[in-house]
Amino acid sequence: MDPKAKPLIRKRTGDYRWQEVDVLRYKQEGSAPFQDVTRQVLFDVTDPPSQLRYFEVAPGGWTTLERHEHVHAVMVIRGRGQCLVGDEAWEIGMHDLVSVPAMTWHQFRAAADAPLGFLCLVSAERDRPQLPSPEEDEVIARPLQGKPVDSGSR
Ligand code: MN
Repeated sequence: MDPKAKPLIRKRTGDYRWQEVDVLRYKQEGSAPFQDVTRQVLFDVTDPPSQLRYFEVAPGGWTTLERHEHVHAVMVIRGRGQCLVGDEAWEIGMHDLVSVPAMTWHQFRAAADAPLGFLCLVSAERDRPQLPSPEEDEVIARPLQGKPVDSGSR
């Protein structure tokens, strides 16, 4: 068997862990602001160039506020939290699907008392994320400010 061949099935090996999938840092430390996020690449092919990743944001953590030309499809499979997409923020939880259009600011935040784990489908050939300036950041993230972090209502 070609040692580089990808297994057809990656069995789960524990909670949100899969065979031969390493738990990676979300991004290089210092490359962009984020807090307590891990990344696992579950699927990575060239035809069509696409990846399925699993990100997990620890309680109280958050992903980078960013935008880019490539789109995301995100499905929550663990915990709950909030997302910002464009100029709106939502409470999100298990099995909610979030579509992030091109060049739309987005950020995912875990609840203070629960992680937020999600699958994210993305093109393997993609542009680099753009980050807001500190002044823009405040305005763009404003829809998240008034949101209760732990509604617990789901
Ligand atoms: Mn993104």
